[in-house]
Amino acid sequence: MARDARFDILFEPVQIGPKTLRNRFYQVPHCTGFGVEKPWSQAAHRAVKAEGGWAAVCTEYCTVSPDADETPFISARMWDDHDLRHLKVMCDAAHAHGSLAGVELSHSGAHGENGETRLPPPAPSQITSDYSNITPKAMEQLDIDRIVSDWVRAAIRSRDAGFDIVYVYGGHSYLLGQMLSPFYNQRTDDYGGSLENRARMWIETLRAVRGAVGSDCAIACRVAVSAAGGPGVELDEGLEFVRMADHLVDLWDVHIGSILEWSKDSGASRFFTEGWQLEWTGHVREATEKPIVGVGRLTTPARMAEIIESGVWDLIGAARPNIADPFLPEKIRTGRIDDIRACIGCNMCISKGDFRRHIGCTQNATAGEEHRRGWHPERFDTAKNADSEVLVVGAGPAGMECAIVLGRRGMRRVRLVDAAGEPGGVTRWIPRLPGLAEWDRLRTWRLGQLAKLPNVEIETGVRLDAAGVRAAGADLVVIATGAEWAGDGRNGVTRGPIPGADPALPHILTPEQVMLEGKRPPGSRVLVLDCEGYFMGAGMAELLRSQGHEVELMTSCEKVAPLCDETLEGPLLRRHLHDLGIHMRAEAWLTRVEPGGVTVETELGEEFELEADAVVLVTQRVSHERLYLELTAAGVQGVHRIGDCVAPRLLADAIWDGHRMGREIDSPDPSRPLPHLRERPGFEAVALAGAAG
Ligand code: ADP
Ligand code: SF4
Repeated sequence: MARDARFDILFEPVQIGPKTLRNRFYQVPHCTGFGVEKPWSQAAHRAVKAEGGWAAVCTEYCTVSPDADETPFISARMWDDHDLRHLKVMCDAAHAHGSLAGVELSHSGAHGENGETRLPPPAPSQITSDYSNITPKAMEQLDIDRIVSDWVRAAIRSRDAGFDIVYVYGGHSYLLGQMLSPFYNQRTDDYGGSLENRARMWIETLRAVRGAVGSDCAIACRVAVSAAGGPGVELDEGLEFVRMADHLVDLWDVHIGSILEWSKDSGASRFFTEGWQLEWTGHVREATEKPIVGVGRLTTPARMAEIIESGVWDLIGAARPNIADPFLPEKIRTGRIDDIRACIGCNMCISKGDFRRHIGCTQNATAGEEHRRGWHPERFDTAKNADSEVLVVGAGPAGMECAIVLGRRGMRRVRLVDAAGEPGGVTRWIPRLPGLAEWDRLRTWRLGQLAKLPNVEIETGVRLDAAGVRAAGADLVVIATGAEWAGDGRNGVTRGPIPGADPALPHILTPEQVMLEGKRPPGSRVLVLDCEGYFMGAGMAELLRSQGHEVELMTSCEKVAPLCDETLEGPLLRRHLHDLGIHMRAEAWLTRVEPGGVTVETELGEEFELEADAVVLVTQRVSHERLYLELTAAGVQGVHRIGDCVAPRLLADAIWDGHRMGREIDSPDPSRPLPHLRERPGFEAVALAGAAG
C-alpha cells in the first residue's frame, strides 16, 4: 500500500550533532524493569522498535554513580565496564536495524533510595525528597566535582559501548533538575540563588561531557521546561535555561512535570488528550534552533505531521505509543494506518515496568516478551497443527486476542463465538466508565484485525453449553468465558460473602448490573464498596455521582484506588472524586448489608452503622469456569481455557494469556505455558566480563 504524501515529512532525516536520524520517529527514554540486569530483554525490546522504524531507541534512566542507586526501582547503570558490556548488546541490536542508540545518563540526587549501595544520596540542599521521603546529604564542592567526572566516565563508556546519543539528563526533577529548581536548591554558594548559579552544575556537566565525547556522539539534554506546578522551574526559566545551555546541546528532549508530578508527563488518557504537552513544549522553539523532540502520547499520523510542519518540534518522541506498537512508523510508511495498535493511555506499562519490574502492555501482549518468549509483535509462524479447526468460546479481550493469533498462525478455521449481541466482553462496557473512553481501542483494534483474517469467523448471540461445544466438532476448544463481579460480596478481607448481600435484591448492585442491565439504586444514598483498589470502584462512584446520587466510596485498601498510583492516575483521581463531592473512606469494609443500612468495620476494630439506600459491590470477581469444568469432567480432549475464566485479572494479563495460548496452540500441552528464558547474574555473565575485559 502506498503511503499518504501528507506523511512524507515524517520520513525526512534529521541531523543531530555528528549523527543522522533516518527519520523523525524517536523512542525517548522509558523504563522497562530491565536496566543492566536483563541485558538481552533490554536489547530485544529496543531492537523490535528499531526494526519497526524508530530512528533512535534509548535506554531508561541510566545512573552514572553508585550513590544514584535507584533500588528498589530498576534503572540502567553505567558504573563500570560490566555495565558497558551489558548495554553494548542493546547498541548492537539497534544498529543492526539502522537505528541510533541513546543512553539517558542520569543521577537521582535526593530521590534515590540507594537501597543496594547504602550510600547517602547527594542533593543540592538537605531537604527531604518529596518523592522518596529520604533526607539527602547537601553536596560539598568535592561531591559536585566527583559527580561531573562520574558523568564523563559514564559518557566515555557509553561511547565505547556504541551509543550514538549521550544524555545529560536532568528532567523529572533528577539531580541536575534539582540543582535548577529553587525548591530543591537552597544553596547560598555559586550553585544557588540566581538561575545562572542554579544552572551551573548542569552546564559544567554538559561542557565536560561534550569535551569528552562530543565529536563522536550527539549530546542530548532532557529538561522539564515547566514543572507544571511541581517543584521545578516554570516556562520562563525553562526557556532561559535552554538559551544558556544551547551551545552545548545537539538535541533538546523536552517535557513537563517532575517525578512527583510524573502524572503530568506520562499523562493517562483519563485526564490528558493526545499532544497536551505542546501547550508548554511547543514554546521551546522560541529559545533554540537546535532539533527538539517532545512527547504527548501521539498516536495519530496526521497530528504528528501537523506538529512537524508547524516547526515547533523536529522529532516525534514517544514511549507509550511505541510500547503499544513498535511498528507504528513502519505502518505509516507503508500506508497501513488501520493496523496501528494505538496506545490506550492506561499506564499499565508504567505499573509493570516500574513497580512490578518487568514491562508489559495492555494493548501489546508481546511487549517485554521479545527475548524471553521470542514473541515478535508482527511475525507469527504457521502452527504445526494448522490443519485444525479451533472453537474459541467467549469474544472478550482474551478470546479476541487468541483468535487473532490463531488466525495469523494459519489455523484452518477459527470460530469465535459469544453469547452477547456483540463481541468485546468487558471491553464493551469498561470504556463507558467515566474517563475511560480511549480504552475502547482495545476492542476496536482487535475487531479491525479479526475482520482481515479470512480464516476467523465471529458469531454473536450464541450461548454454548457443553453439548453445544461438542456438537460444534472443533479439533481444539479454547474457553474464554471470562468472570463477573461477585454479587454476594465475597472478598479477601472477611474471607467470605457479606451477610445480607444478594444481587437479586433491589438495593444490591454489581458493576455488570449497572453497566449492562441498567439497574440503578432504589434511593439517593449509595455506598460503593471497593476491595480491589483499581479503576472499577472509582468508576462506579463517579458514574452514580454524575447521575445525581450521594455517593460514599469505601475501600478496604489503605487509600482509594492504590493501584492507580502505579498508573500515575491516583492523586489526580482522588482529587477529582473529591471535587465531585464523593465522600471517601479507607481501611473499612462491610460486615452486614440490610435494606437502608450497612454495618461497617475498620482496621482499628471499630464497628458502626451507616445509612445507605444501596450498595454497589466491587469486592472481587469470580471466574465463569463451569463450561470448562463440565467439558473436562466429561473427558473431552483438546479443551483449554484462558483469561479471566482461569482467574480474574488485569486486562493486560487476560489479553496476554489469550496471546500465549495462540502462540503455544501447537505445543505438547497448550494449557501448560512453555518455559521462558530467565536472565540472572551468573557464571555466563562473569565469564563474559572476563573474556571481554
Ligand atoms: P476475558 O477478559 O477473559 O476475555 P470477558 O468477561 O471480557 O473475559 O469476556 C467473556 C465473554 O465470554 C463475554 O463476552 C461473554 O458474553 C462470553 N461468554 C461467557 N459464557 C459464554 C458461553 N457459554 N457461550 C458463549 N459466550 C460466552
Ligand atoms: Fe499504552 Fe497502556 Fe500499553 Fe502503556 S500499557 S503503552 S499506556 S496501552
